[in-house]
Amino acid sequence: IAIQQSRLFEQVRHQARQEMLLNHILDEIRASLDVQHILTCTVEHLGTALNLRQCGITLLRHNLSSLPTPFVVTVQTPALGEPVAPLEITETLRQQLMLDNDLVVLPYRVNPLQMRPKAAQLVVQGENTYLATAIRIDNQVQGVLWASPALHPLGRIDKTSRWEPSDLNLVEEVAMQLSQALQQATLYQQLQAANDELRRLAHLDGLTQIANRREFDRYLAQEWQRLQREQGSLALILADVDHFKGYNDTYGHLAGDDCLRTIARLLDQVTKRPADLAARYGGEEFALVLPNTTAAGAIALATEANTYLTRLSIPNAASPLRGQVTVSFGIAVLTPVPTLSTELLVQRADQALYAAKESGRNCYCLWSEEIQST
Ligand code: GH3
Ligand code: MG
Ligand code: MG
Repeated sequence: IAIQQSRLFEQVRHQARQEMLLNHILDEIRASLDVQHILTCTVEHLGTALNLRQCGITLLRHNLSSLPTPFVVTVQTPALGEPVAPLEITETLRQQLMLDNDLVVLPYRVNPLQMRPKAAQLVVQGENTYLATAIRIDNQVQGVLWASPALHPLGRIDKTSRWEPSDLNLVEEVAMQLSQALQQATLYQQLQAANDELRRLAHLDGLTQIANRREFDRYLAQEWQRLQREQGSLALILADVDHFKGYNDTYGHLAGDDCLRTIARLLDQVTKRPADLAARYGGEEFALVLPNTTAAGAIALATEANTYLTRLSIPNAASPLRGQVTVSFGIAVLTPVPTLSTELLVQRADQALYAAKESGRNCYCLWSEEIQST
């Protein structure tokens, strides 16, 4: 009875240890959405716990864009034997793989232990025998969790006797949980990508693909605050296409849209500094926010834009100005101080634009006291 009890006690103790270990691994897996961390953690814990010569994960294919394909993570314990080659999906092996609707099933050797199908299996590759368990994402086998046991003191691995049923259960359970964790991480990454895309779209103008009015407002306010601290000058150019109503009437609205896209691209290209922002202000009006830029700098930029536009020579039969699409620019420059505001800067640029229109269009006008009084 004493011997029996002591055996039983050993069994229970072993079981308890396995459960503790499993919980420990699961805690780590669940706490993270970082795939690489999840994988590394898993193989490290499993390798130590089961006293493995080597343990690894090969992801056959995955949609976790940050990782290379195939992705292999492995840990080894040199004291327990020579490292083995990571379980690899070679072309020969691929031939043997049963491909069924993207489902990859490893070529399992007939196993004397008669284990359940799709559970932990012994796989022979080259010189080595691996215990392998499928990792599934979206019901597809996306990878393998594999383990290589410590060498038998007498040499080659005894293929069957090394694995305790409780070890197998542990490996299977970990692989299953890993599948779920990876699935979640995949979903999370997709969600993040969708969010990033939404955020990008939220500040882009749908027609011209440059910043929209909202982004313009946000950026102008941000740069105003920044330059107030740094006491730098902030230049704003408002650009309005001349006789654009006539352009639409002559060539149609779709051609008008094309024309706006061309001008947007042009303005985006002339704003070269990283802090410069070209935005669609509304309709056929654009805005250039130019931090740390003087009046001379802004004038140079407007002139450059005008040169490029002349070179493009987009015909506009409705315009008396050389029969071409032209743009008028209103420029205002301020060094931000708390008593002034972005509204004043916009208002001044608008007044300057109006003055440019008044003086015959196809030109720029810099805001000055005289403009305000006219
Ligand atoms: P001005 O030289 O005084 O600026 O004359 P204008 O004809 O350009 O100015 P107006 O404000 O009379 O007309 C603006 C035109 O811009 C009218 C409108 O149909 C056109 N427009 C505004 N937004 C768009 C757009 O998104 N696509 C197209 N195709 N046309 C647009
Ligand atoms: Mg207009
Ligand atoms: Mg116009």
